[in-house]
Amino acid sequence: MPRLITDFDGPIIDVSERYYRVYQYCLAAVSQPEQRVRQLTKQEFWSLKRSQVPEAQIAIRSGLSDDQSFHFSKLRRDTVHTMPYFQYDTPVPGAVEALEMLQQAGFDLVVMTMRRTRELNYALQRYDLERFFPLDRRYCLANDYVKTIDTKDKPLLMARAMRELPTTYSTWMVGDTEADIAAAQSQGLPAIGVLSGIRDRKRFEQYGPTYIASDLAAAVELVLDRCLLAV
Ligand SMILES: [Mg+2]
Repeated sequence: MPRLITDFDGPIIDVSERYYRVYQYCLAAVSQPEQRVRQLTKQEFWSLKRSQVPEAQIAIRSGLSDDQSFHFSKLRRDTVHTMPYFQYDTPVPGAVEALEMLQQAGFDLVVMTMRRTRELNYALQRYDLERFFPLDRRYCLANDYVKTIDTKDKPLLMARAMRELPTTYSTWMVGDTEADIAAAQSQGLPAIGVLSGIRDRKRFEQYGPTYIASDLAAAVELVLDRCLLAV
């Protein structure tokens, strides 16, 4: 049975609205009442995120001082993964259908994410995605896990998955950041970078995934094609 390991945020869930709402909140919270700030449009904000402009830079571009940008980054970090904001996440168009297609084709589906267990379960329930990922096919961070950086934490999670999952003749990884590519490469797996998430094509060309696809639906098409060729 071929296997597809997919990241959650980016390929399946669009987090741009959550991130933008948190940006708006932090900008308002950190600025002075009489201070003139320039709130970026969602499009401006998201394209900065996708080209990996640091949070402090985004704050400065929005009219905050260096000092304020420090507070902004901290508040943003403390807020972005809190429950009130997760409700702004939405499924990426076509992602659910792509998962259905893989499931029908007999793929072993695994989700691998830097979300914590409660954050992952919340979204799986909310969008009726539990049916794709049985409990032993969910790789995420424990609720009390102390995060370092994603490019370190994700390969660790991948190593655990490789130890625990039954061996299979073909495994693919899909993700939207350098952490996903690093995790796949650490185990010698082919990686497909999707552009429906928080990195743009230019970033991906630097990180060198095996393939770049517009979204999960396109990635699935590619995987199914390759698997047919291999038979
Ligand atoms: Mg992601």
